[in-house]
Amino acid sequence: MTDVEPIKCDLCVIGSGLAGMAATLFAANRGLSVVQMGHTGEIIFASGLIDLLGVHPVSEKRSWNDPWAAVDALVKDIPRHPYARLKKKDIKAAFDEILTFLAETGLTYHRNIDHNSGVLTSLGTIKTTYAVPHTMWNGVKALKEKPACLIIDIRGLKGFSARQIVAALNAGWSNLRSARISFPGSDHLNEVYTEHMANALLLSPNREKLAGVVAPHVKASKILGLPAILGLYRTHEVISQLEELLGVPLFEIPTIPPSVPGLRLKEAFERGLRLRGVQYFSLTRALKVRQPANGQFETQIGRDDVEHIVHSRGVILASGRFIGGGLQADRKSIRETIFDLPVYQPDSRRDWHHRDFLDPRGHLINQAGLEIDDTFRPLGDSGGPAFETLFAAGSILAHNDWKRLKCGAGLAIATAFGAINSFIN
Ligand SMILES: Cc1cc2nc3c(=O)[nH]c(=O)nc-3n(C[C@H](O)[C@H](O)[C@H](O)COP(=O)(O)OP(=O)(O)OC[C@H]3O[C@@H](n4cnc5c(N)ncnc54)[C@H](O)[C@@H]3O)c2cc1C
Repeated sequence: MTDVEPIKCDLCVIGSGLAGMAATLFAANRGLSVVQMGHTGEIIFASGLIDLLGVHPVSEKRSWNDPWAAVDALVKDIPRHPYARLKKKDIKAAFDEILTFLAETGLTYHRNIDHNSGVLTSLGTIKTTYAVPHTMWNGVKALKEKPACLIIDIRGLKGFSARQIVAALNAGWSNLRSARISFPGSDHLNEVYTEHMANALLLSPNREKLAGVVAPHVKASKILGLPAILGLYRTHEVISQLEELLGVPLFEIPTIPPSVPGLRLKEAFERGLRLRGVQYFSLTRALKVRQPANGQFETQIGRDDVEHIVHSRGVILASGRFIGGGLQADRKSIRETIFDLPVYQPDSRRDWHHRDFLDPRGHLINQAGLEIDDTFRPLGDSGGPAFETLFAAGSILAHNDWKRLKCGAGLAIATAFGAINSFIN
């Protein structure tokens, strides 16, 4: 179906993970017409926490209280890290714009502007992060103040153990307890899923039933931690009703993927971007992109066959790494899947991983990705920008071991900001 009328726009954004969503938002906020496409990406696996920079250097596992001082140190030590292409004021502006947008969609985030916060994980470890969904913010405070706290376990929920959390933290938090409940209506099930429970809690009667089974365990507890299930959306409403029924504040603890806070992020972006007039083709791919002589990009979009053709002045490549599909590895090398751009990578497959999976230096494969210039344009074979108006953002960029540095979502947002500003200027 290639005889379709081309859609004309300023910008075509390839990818609907966090980098693609952020790029689309920044572009739409600046009055550009945007067409975006992609599958879900890593966003629904993510914890919902927005890291800026938590750890550097990874080999020392040095954790930073001040993420901005951490960025200074990182940029000095790894001058090709994508953060080095940005001014700190731009990273700050990117965060402000995203968090304002999310708050407008009902997904409020909290942060301490100049320091990272600790968030309790489902393993009882403490994760260093920057911006925290409002549903988890009481937990940040509880970790510091250590009031009498009850962690709720849900029968049949895999990967979450309140008892393990308590065991891991009891030494420094003596009045931390756990209790196990059955999620209302799930007695007959061997396994329960976070998304189903979060969906059930959209209805007020289900919140009342949940409060009914939790209430007998509250006793002297001053605060309650639960797995992240407190509403797929309308979380303010869900939490305030449960808090009223139980008489204590609540907080969520991130769970293993797929994650409800990740789903909330995806839903918030999709809703907010639709209102800004973005044309979003979900569950489709850029099948082929070419740049005819007129300098415009032509992107063919579809599932298997071409369903739409987009003509745009510029393209943002936010196609992620191996999970997202932006990079692909065969037995010998790693390639970029859409433009076949050169990929920075170890010389030989033998060097992709160190022998020890937990090697403190991290693995070289996690540094692989696209080299860019100062304006976020990926470099071609000649060493110069591959195209005048092709920009890249997010985890596809090289020199960015985001898992170990704890900078995943922040990097996606900040580099999207850099890419859009470069396109406009
Ligand atoms: C389990 C897990 C937990 C995480 N936890 C955190 C956390 O606690 N804090 C934090 O800050 N970050 C976290 N992250 C990281 C964060 O989610 C990622 O860094 C971020 O989502 C990367 O975003 P991205 O948009 O670059 O890539 P992705 O999310 O991988 O998105 C890539 C997109 O490109 C699309 N795509 C690929 N090829 C094509 C094509 N040909 N045409 C169209 N589209 C295409 C894909 O469909 C997808 O939409 C976590 C990630 C995971 C997986």
